[in-house]
Amino acid sequence: MVHPDTELRYVNDHIGWGVFATRPIPRGTIIWALDTLDQKFTPDEVAALPFYARAILDKYAYIDARGRHILCWDHARYFNHSCAANCLSLGYDFELAIRDIGPGEELTDDYGTLNPLAPFPCLCGAHDCRSHVLPDDFTRLGDHWNTAAREAFFLIPSVSQPLWPVVSELPEIEAALDDPNRLRSIHSHYRARTSARLVG
Ligand SMILES: [Zn+2]
Repeated sequence: MVHPDTELRYVNDHIGWGVFATRPIPRGTIIWALDTLDQKFTPDEVAALPFYARAILDKYAYIDARGRHILCWDHARYFNHSCAANCLSLGYDFELAIRDIGPGEELTDDYGTLNPLAPFPCLCGAHDCRSHVLPDDFTRLGDHWNTAAREAFFLIPSVSQPLWPVVSELPEIEAALDDPNRLRSIHSHYRARTSARLVG
């Protein structure tokens, strides 16, 4: 479920739709959490789908560390990629705002964290745009993402969290806040290609 202070807006004909903040969303805010209505497909289930359904998953789903396609039921599925994403996860089933996000600003993920099956060109316009998003971006950028998301994680208790009732990992959050050594790494999201069953 995506944060309530967001809405779907049409960006342009090239990008299509995107998710935008309607109010200020401070750094450390949980902006999305996996919920019971999100659909989860194993690789075998994906392989058994008709072509049109697989095309929908290719466009809108992300792949978790277990190789499952996750299709969000709400407008979270319209998060666009940015090489300077303002939202990241840290190995949990939720994402954080890693910077303050202003009203009207688009919320973005780095698709490199979402286990893409194939490279794709990027024209995100970020100052440090990588020009391509690659399936193994984790190996080069994981530590950088980790640092950015860790700093935001410790702000979780200090900002409003409307998605708190949706988050299933509250004990894990409490444990990591008490003992930073128990904080997960973004690397735990990585689905290494050598063990992945390629689909699509
Ligand atoms: Zn880019």
